[in-house]
Amino acid sequence: VLTRLHSECLTGDVLGSAKCDCGEQLTAARRAVLAEAEMGRAGIIVYLRGHEGRGIGLANKIRAYQLQDEGLDTVDANTAQGLPVDARRYDVAAAILADLGAGSVRLMSNNPAKAAGLVQYGIDVVEMVPIDVAHTAESRAYLASKRQRLGHL
Ligand SMILES: [Zn+2]
Repeated sequence: VLTRLHSECLTGDVLGSAKCDCGEQLTAARRAVLAEAEMGRAGIIVYLRGHEGRGIGLANKIRAYQLQDEGLDTVDANTAQGLPVDARRYDVAAAILADLGAGSVRLMSNNPAKAAGLVQYGIDVVEMVPIDVAHTAESRAYLASKRQRLGHL
């Protein structure tokens, strides 16, 4: 089943911030699931509350943005606050997928850690389906950091 695990991002998903690619990724995932439906196939988007700012929460993410404006990247902006680089867990997502009968997924993500997080809790990831969204002047450095420091594809 084509599946997106979307980490909640108030600034990107709701406010349309150009600092990250979350809003565009959510739109791309919705389009992809609709395309599956048009071919008579299922698709799933699991919207993961509590994943804001890779799990550090909205207030800490806003402080991280301040640190990024002062020159730190997205990884160092977390560690400078004494916070984990990525605090997200995928046990709840795996339980939701299992409850939906989706024991095997084609995961729409550029983040290998999401696939590993599902596999850890018993969901088979048979394919990583890349999500390509256009970067903006504001998101270029952030996306480069995710690729270089967090192993994103
Ligand atoms: Zn975001």
